[in-house]
Amino acid sequence: MPDDAVIRARALTCRFGDVVAVDGLDFDVHRGEVFGFLGQNGAGKTTTVRLLNGVLEPASGAVEVLGLDPVRDGVEVRQQSGVLTETSSVDGRLTAEENLLFWGRFYGLPERELATRAAELLREFGLAERARDRVSAFSTGMRQRLALARALLHRPELLFLDEPTAGLDPLAARHVHELIEAMSRREGRTVFLCTHNLVEAQRLCDRVAVLGRGRILALGTTAELGRRLGAARVGVEVDPSRRAEAASVVARAVPAAAIDAGSGGALTIRGVGRDAVPAIVAALVADGIPVYRAASAEATLEDIYFGLLGSGGAV
Ligand code: ATP
Repeated sequence: MPDDAVIRARALTCRFGDVVAVDGLDFDVHRGEVFGFLGQNGAGKTTTVRLLNGVLEPASGAVEVLGLDPVRDGVEVRQQSGVLTETSSVDGRLTAEENLLFWGRFYGLPERELATRAAELLREFGLAERARDRVSAFSTGMRQRLALARALLHRPELLFLDEPTAGLDPLAARHVHELIEAMSRREGRTVFLCTHNLVEAQRLCDRVAVLGRGRILALGTTAELGRRLGAARVGVEVDPSRRAEAASVVARAVPAAAIDAGSGGALTIRGVGRDAVPAIVAALVADGIPVYRAASAEATLEDIYFGLLGSGGAV
């Protein structure tokens, strides 16, 4: 395993009866990056996390996590990583503090260090004032923050986060985003992030893999995927009375692009980026069409995701 590969999957496959949940995945996750794992319900994200944690055994293929084999060394993998699953349970009968102390003992943290660490995390996650309250009285967001604190107790170098902001209000979600950013950028931890939230993925992830029916449909940085899928666009605004004419002029100038008409004199030219702006403006001006605005926009993850949906069916 090269030094910076914390996770390496090769032809990783998992079946449940006739269902191929994970179908020949190949990817590396580098040390210190936030790696996004996207895909519709049932795409295979949770199954992949369970394979990486050694909770499930692959039907075929190979996987290494922190230099270990999750099937053979599952206990070590789970001890050295932190996991926040969709169903991460914090025990409602215990207080927030008791939950952390319980899990800290499970991870084998020394008692003295544990009390300090639990207090530090409760403070950091805005739960210090509720430390002695039973978790059954907590809101979804408070439970989620506690579950995240639990995953971080033993300072794991690798974190698996499955839908960490599901069910959180925007403010609580932003707080979790800031915590993830801090863990990655300041503390150098590696984060494997499964999410349905494309804005979250765009904000947090260094690279993303888009999964569809157990296969990777695309993998790279947002900029790379945007270029590869032609998802960048140029917006122009011309005199509204000349819009139809402008659309034909643009179609001749950049034949590969798809053109959508907006309101007034707006046109969106999809599949081309910044490099196409001079040619588009020159063609319009040469035809005597007044141009009021021309600007390129990089592809957003949402553009890319729906582009993949459109081209490949289910993601
Ligand atoms: P979601 O976004 O809904 O959480 P996901 O991408 O995490 O979806 P998985 O939970 O990995 O998807 O499911 C992938 C496929 O494997 C689905 O078809 C699912 O029905 C199937 N599957 C997952 N776990 C099991 C199981 N324990 N037994 C049988 N089939 C399963």
